[in-house]
Amino acid sequence: MSGTKKLTVTWCAVLAVVVGLLGSASAAPARTWIVGATVISPEREDTGRVLNVLIEDDRIAAVTATLPANASRQATIVHAEGKYLIPGLMDSHVHLSSVPGMSFPMQAGHQDLVEAYRRQVPRSFLRYGYTTVVDLIIADPKPIQAMRAAPAHPDIYDCGGALPIPNGYPTTADPAEYRFTVFPNTLYDPIHPEGFPAQEDPKTHSSQAAVTRIRNGGGICVKTFYERGFGRDRGRLPVPSAELMRGVVAAAGAAQLPVLLHANSFEAQTFGVDTGVSILAHGMWSWTPYDSAETVPPQIQALLDRIVERSIGYQATLQVIGGLQLLFDSAYLDRPDVQRVIPPALLAWYRSDEAQWYKRDRAQGAPDAAMHEGIGRVLHRGGQVVQYLAQHHARFLFGTDTPSGPTVGNLPGLNGYLEMQHLIGAGMSLRQLFEAATLSNAKAFALDGQIGTVQPGKRANLVLLGRSPLESVEAYDQVQAVWIGGTRLDPKSLESTQP
Ligand SMILES: [Zn+2]
Repeated sequence: MSGTKKLTVTWCAVLAVVVGLLGSASAAPARTWIVGATVISPEREDTGRVLNVLIEDDRIAAVTATLPANASRQATIVHAEGKYLIPGLMDSHVHLSSVPGMSFPMQAGHQDLVEAYRRQVPRSFLRYGYTTVVDLIIADPKPIQAMRAAPAHPDIYDCGGALPIPNGYPTTADPAEYRFTVFPNTLYDPIHPEGFPAQEDPKTHSSQAAVTRIRNGGGICVKTFYERGFGRDRGRLPVPSAELMRGVVAAAGAAQLPVLLHANSFEAQTFGVDTGVSILAHGMWSWTPYDSAETVPPQIQALLDRIVERSIGYQATLQVIGGLQLLFDSAYLDRPDVQRVIPPALLAWYRSDEAQWYKRDRAQGAPDAAMHEGIGRVLHRGGQVVQYLAQHHARFLFGTDTPSGPTVGNLPGLNGYLEMQHLIGAGMSLRQLFEAATLSNAKAFALDGQIGTVQPGKRANLVLLGRSPLESVEAYDQVQAVWIGGTRLDPKSLESTQP
């Protein structure tokens, strides 16, 4: 026995030398026990259980009913009795580098504000518990690379360059000569060759070529569009053919990437269902030709039934409309929660006359109250669709589309909380919302091996709340701690500070 023991000691000494040579990579893991929280994890039907969660480095190592007697000797203890521990939230529809309230030419004139904003973006998402975000359109990779290199940031995934058609949405925001540079994955549609520039090679703009580029660039999804235009472009933009979209769906399917279709009308969502896309990236607030209907008309119900039957992912994105409505709410910029998610200098600019351009553009002289009411009717249509889908157990995916346009009403992090309030107000249940923002989202983007639940082996992305999110949507406004890859962050430390 003593011989064995001596051998062990010798081996330990050798091991210690080896560990020393290898450096910190082989050092003892950083351990934290989160003790006594009610753990709510979406793979279980219950409303939570009091459990202890061990984090080792960036992983969840154990979830136990009883705390080991020696726990405090091996690990930092975080007392969380009376609080609620959930998986980190996932927002699967964001545009990280777009600056709310600024047109592209304005950004060039306010580089300092743009940079200050982009430094705050990853912090604001974390502040509200978003530990995973998916950027659906990468036009310029540099701002995203900078966010991924920031000291505190969510896990950032992307769909690479999106797949518009020539002169289709959203390319018209850029001057014609830059559109293929900004959107290198613009598609050649063989049955509509007319808009395709002669100097471009159709072969490099096939669905297959675009999907291959996305995959090679590390993209986890494919974003495309069916939009006839709104505002100045209303009804004027070309849309893809069904044949082209079926080609996108086939190419993405072979690469095991989900296809997200920008579609917010009855016509566009019909097109998405007919062509087999995986996810509808917006709610349906345009019911044309049934916009005057008081309740969801049978024709739209029939489409929503197909969305449910086929288990198509549904990002309701009500805050696209809610964020427009906030343009016409004079008290909005005074809210403390607005001030916490953007730099003070940007907030000051939002109060300037120059920054009112988008509000003026939308209103065309109409008074605030009339705009607020008109937008409210559009929001109500979107909400009725959410209610119908919620009653029929649709596969909701939580996505905010932050920012959906140049509105100050779509600010990072906070926008998620506002979206949640709209969804619950429309009739989504708290459990549906919780699943949409955790496990359903993780599964839809094939990330459920890594995130989405509080289970051993998962990445330690966790949020501690002061209330149960299965009892009240306000729980999501009571973030008390966030762990990103095992690193604990204090929400206060993520808020925008005075310069
Ligand atoms: Zn979007």
